[in-house]
Amino acid sequence: TLFGNAFEALSAVGLSDVVRNVSSGAIARMRAGQRAPDGSWLLTLPSTAVATLRSVHRVTLYDALVSQLAAGSLRSGTTAFVSCNGSPNILVHGASVEFDLVLVADGVRSKNRERLGLESGLSYAGYTAWRGVTDRSVDIDHAAGETWGRRSIFGIVPLPEDQLYWFGTLTTEAGRIFEDERQAVHDTFGTWHDPIPACLEATPSGNIIRHDIYELAKPLATFTRGRTVLLGDAAHAMTPNLGQGAGQAIEDAVTLALLLGRRQGDDLEEVLARYNKLRRKRTTALWRQSRWMGNVAQASGPLTSWVRDMGMRLTPGRIAGLASKHLQSWKQPG
Ligand SMILES: Cc1cc2nc3c(=O)[nH]c(=O)nc-3n(C[C@H](O)[C@H](O)[C@H](O)COP(=O)(O)OP(=O)(O)OC[C@H]3O[C@@H](n4cnc5c(N)ncnc54)[C@H](O)[C@@H]3O)c2cc1C
Repeated sequence: TLFGNAFEALSAVGLSDVVRNVSSGAIARMRAGQRAPDGSWLLTLPSTAVATLRSVHRVTLYDALVSQLAAGSLRSGTTAFVSCNGSPNILVHGASVEFDLVLVADGVRSKNRERLGLESGLSYAGYTAWRGVTDRSVDIDHAAGETWGRRSIFGIVPLPEDQLYWFGTLTTEAGRIFEDERQAVHDTFGTWHDPIPACLEATPSGNIIRHDIYELAKPLATFTRGRTVLLGDAAHAMTPNLGQGAGQAIEDAVTLALLLGRRQGDDLEEVLARYNKLRRKRTTALWRQSRWMGNVAQASGPLTSWVRDMGMRLTPGRIAGLASKHLQSWKQPG
């Protein structure tokens, strides 16, 4: 899922329509919010809160963005390592290649972050997450969003071409092994409200993945070292509770592209300092908010989850919508 902030950023580099054309905005026309496992609504979001939300399969998103690159500019299937001192070289297949600037986007478990001496450690968020995509149409009765149980959340998001994306989380120890992942999802969510069982039924085993959720243990002190810059999860891996990780990676990339495009003369250090300041501020706030949200959402005790649910039932959707407004907007660097 990508919110309006990602599209505002994509639009600044002329890529908004490319992603819009391959994504679905159907959720904006549905009832969205949070439900309890029996199907009763805890909170209905105002339509403005999901008006800009669009969903796209990750592979489709990559393909759409890659299709815009100049032919031959992407080499995949290659491991690259940066120079430990931040000089703009990368090591590929044992050979060192020099550039003007090196961008590191190797994800939450970034080996390059470690090489640069920027590692702040990872912390297990306390839960694991299954993700699935249905292979046939399921009637979701014009409603989408999340269902909050004790220690578990299930979410449904429509994708293009009548497919659905769903996720399910479970508070459990890290590294837990399930003999049969599909069965484990059925065991956890199979008795929850319709159309959750039907979503699971319509998802073959091969369309289900699971990851333990890790985030950076604390925000990084800097995203840059010399002429090497961190972007995306390598810089600010956060829990998925705000659905903003990829959106922030897009904001990083566009911010850097715009700052570099506008630079005059040889003020690269200044550009990197600006990028560092702007992006650390924004992503640190979201990293914190996402962690807090995860703790509330995964509430495990009968009392804590009851208090959480009551709080949601009593919160006007309008207020919840306002709270997400700043998340969903992005401004070009001035
Ligand atoms: C359950 C779940 C749900 C989520 N839902 C959302 C959502 O709804 N919306 C959203 O915006 N975000 C969401 N996210 C977060 C999102 O997936 C990440 O923030 C995003 O993928 C980060 O992108 P990235 O390019 O920084 O890293 P990644 O997507 O992790 O990509 C890193 C890439 O680098 C490659 N790599 C690693 N090491 C090297 C190396 N040495 N050399 C070359 N390549 C290397 C890897 O193979 C990989 O392809 C979710 C995450 C989870 C776990």
